[in-house]
Amino acid sequence: MEKVGNHVCPRCGQVAMNVYYSDQTDNRVGAWCEYCNMKAYYHGEELVQINS
Ligand SMILES: [Zn+2]
Repeated sequence: MEKVGNHVCPRCGQVAMNVYYSDQTDNRVGAWCEYCNMKAYYHGEELVQINS
């Protein structure tokens, strides 16, 4: 998986969210915020929080 950091977290507003991409398809598969520990996955373009 490819990890891209420095995204704005939708829960805490900090620039601490990492977005993970699939190696095979380049699709976003999930996200995790280092600041508030928010975890999420992508449903198409929509970011769906798992532990909100
Ligand atoms: Zn956060």
